[in-house]
Amino acid sequence: MESTKRNIIVTGGSRGIGRAIVKEFCAAGDRVYFTFNNHEEEARSLAKECDATAFKCSQRDPKAIDTTLSAILNEANTIDVLINNAGITADMFLMLMPFEEWDKVLDTNINGVFRWVRAVSRPMLTAQKGAIVNVASIAGLIGVGGQTNYAASKGALLAFTRALAAEFGPKGIRVNAVVPGFIDTDMTAVMPRQVKRDNKERILLKRFGTPEEVAKVVTFLASDQASYVVGQEIIVDGGLTATVS
Ligand code: NAP
Repeated sequence: MESTKRNIIVTGGSRGIGRAIVKEFCAAGDRVYFTFNNHEEEARSLAKECDATAFKCSQRDPKAIDTTLSAILNEANTIDVLINNAGITADMFLMLMPFEEWDKVLDTNINGVFRWVRAVSRPMLTAQKGAIVNVASIAGLIGVGGQTNYAASKGALLAFTRALAAEFGPKGIRVNAVVPGFIDTDMTAVMPRQVKRDNKERILLKRFGTPEEVAKVVTFLASDQASYVVGQEIIVDGGLTATVS
C-alpha cells in the first residue's frame, strides 16, 4: 500500500517557531526533515523525540542545501511541503551597521529562501503539487527602527511570496506566507525588558504569541484545508497591526 505520509522540509527546526512547526507536523503523522545551524544538541533531541530527521545545513551554504536535499530525496520520492522558517536578526542603527551585518541577514533570510525554493522546485514542479509557506515578519509590513536589514529581508520575502505564487500556482503548488508579530522565542528573549513591556501594551491581546500559535497557522496553510489559499499572507500578531496606537 502506498504511504499517505507527506514529506515535509522545515528550515531552522532546532528552536523557537521552527521547533513548534516540526512538532505539529510530526503529531499529524507527517515525515519531517528539518535543518539547523548551530544548535546540534537541540536538533538531535527533537529529531529523536519526533522521529524526524535533522540536517546541519546553513541557509548560507548552497552546497549544503543541495547535499541535504539529495539525502532527503534518497529516502523520499516527493517533497510535499517546504516551510521556509530559518531566520536571524542583527539589529542596529543603519549608521553603525557594517556591510557584513546587512549582508548576513539578507543572505540568511532571503537568499537562503531562494536557494531552498530553487532546490525543491524540480521535484515539486515534476509532481505538479505541493505547498510552500514562508515565515516573514511584521517588520516587513511596518517600520521598526534598528531593523533595516531584517525589515528589508522580510519585506522582500513577502514580495517574493506573491511573485512565486504567480509562477507556481498554475503548476499546482500553493505559495503563502505567515507574518508573525512578537513571539516568545530566543529571538525576542534578548529584547530589553522595557521595550517588551511597551510592545505588549500595544498588542491587543496584551501578550507575546507562542511558537505553537504560529505553527498552527503554518501547518494550516500547508494543508488541504487551505487548498484554495494562494499568494496570501496571514498575520499572527495578537492584533498589533490591526489598530493605530
Ligand atoms: P530563533 O528562536 O532564533 O530560531 C531560529 C531558527 O533558525 C533556529 O532553529 C536556527 O538554527 C535557525 N537558523 C538561523 N540561522 C540559520 C542558518 N544560517 N541556517 C539554518 N538555520 C538557521 O527564532 P524564531 O523566533 O523561532 O524565528 C523563526 C522565524 O520566525 C524567523 O524567520 C524569524 O525571522 C521569524 N519571526 C520571528 C518572530 C519572533 O518574535 N520570534 C517574529 C516575526 C518573525 P540554530 O539554532 O541551529 O542556529
